[in-house]
Amino acid sequence: MNILVINCGSSSLKFQLIDAETEKQIAKGLCERIGIDGSQIVYQPAGGEKEETVTPMPDHTKAIELVLNALMNEKTGVVKSLDEIGAVGHRIVHGGEKFASSTIITDEVIEAIRACNDLAPLHNPANLIGIDACKKLMPDTPMVGVFDTAFHQTMPQHAYLYGLPYEYYEKYKVRRYGFHGTSHSYVSKRAAEILGKKYEDMKIIVCHLGNGASISAVENGRCVDTSMGLTPLEGLIMGTRSGDIDPAIIEFIAHKENKTIDEVMTILNKKSGVLGLSDNLSSDFRDLEKSYVAGEERGLRTILAFSYRVAKYIGAYAAAMNGVDAICFTAGVGENNPLVRKHVCEHLGYLGMTLDEEKNQVRGEDREISTPDSKVKALVVPTNEELAIARETFALVK
Ligand code: ADP
Repeated sequence: MNILVINCGSSSLKFQLIDAETEKQIAKGLCERIGIDGSQIVYQPAGGEKEETVTPMPDHTKAIELVLNALMNEKTGVVKSLDEIGAVGHRIVHGGEKFASSTIITDEVIEAIRACNDLAPLHNPANLIGIDACKKLMPDTPMVGVFDTAFHQTMPQHAYLYGLPYEYYEKYKVRRYGFHGTSHSYVSKRAAEILGKKYEDMKIIVCHLGNGASISAVENGRCVDTSMGLTPLEGLIMGTRSGDIDPAIIEFIAHKENKTIDEVMTILNKKSGVLGLSDNLSSDFRDLEKSYVAGEERGLRTILAFSYRVAKYIGAYAAAMNGVDAICFTAGVGENNPLVRKHVCEHLGYLGMTLDEEKNQVRGEDREISTPDSKVKALVVPTNEELAIARETFALVK
């Protein structure tokens, strides 16, 4: 069965068509600038040329129509009709406390997702628009929602509660939710496979280091803690997000710079992280690495501060699980940046972790990067959120 995986943002839409039986990607692409001038669709069949077409996309329904047309195109398409798409898997950012696993999308589920909009005002409405557009164009095709928050729903209460008046949890569900759950789940399972150990018997720490970055503790196959919180702003230093800060800084900066809370929040989300720390050099680690190699102070301080925060969380999560068997690096930076991995691992000697500097030179492939005698294993495990969504979807509709 072919599964169409859709990841719908407010002005963009990423898609992949995956054969669920062979787990091979058949085609992939991206619609950009939906509802904005200059929108374009990028489409690439597996093993074929990438096509970029600038074309008006006033809304997401038009974008999905263009995706389906591209997939069915006589020359470069990969299916003959919509009947060859057995199901659609939608990435949904926030499932609140309602969704601890993926689910077939029904009208009740759509309402329950809508009820979580408050918790992810930028993401959930966009995800719902994607669902609505697919419903219009493929009314008989089953759809599944796969939630970024679901994997983290196993966290114990002591890990998800904040030190705030308890009434805010009761009234508004203010608590830690965590994100990137599909990736944390996929990578931790894969790590057990690579090491030939039973997933249910392992203590694994997953460092998902991309533009957005988060880390999780997975004990016996269940997430017990994660660094992102009510929103994706908490935790690690990210591309443009601050991660953990003293909350009093918000008021301090608002007074000093004469800004509103909304303006300070925009700074914390869009102008902070490694971008802000490097004095606006870049949010991209490739640029930061060049600056580091050139001996510039701003590249050095940014990479060291980023890596230190990751190492600090690893220490916390080793404590949370009373030990750790494997530490996995994934996502853009985790998979492709040996320098960051080296600086993280420099802090981990006390755990009995020894990095193999030569093996650490890997980019973008599965590999154990610790020495054979290392007590705690370090691994590079490329994530594949689309495949994980296709698997979840297939499991529910087959
Ligand atoms: P997102 O959270 O947007 O999915 P990614 O996981 O793609 O982000 O991570 C983006 C980061 O990964 C960038 O800082 C970039 O430098 C780094 N990155 C991605 N691919 C590579 C690569 N091939 N080599 C080095 N760095 C890479």
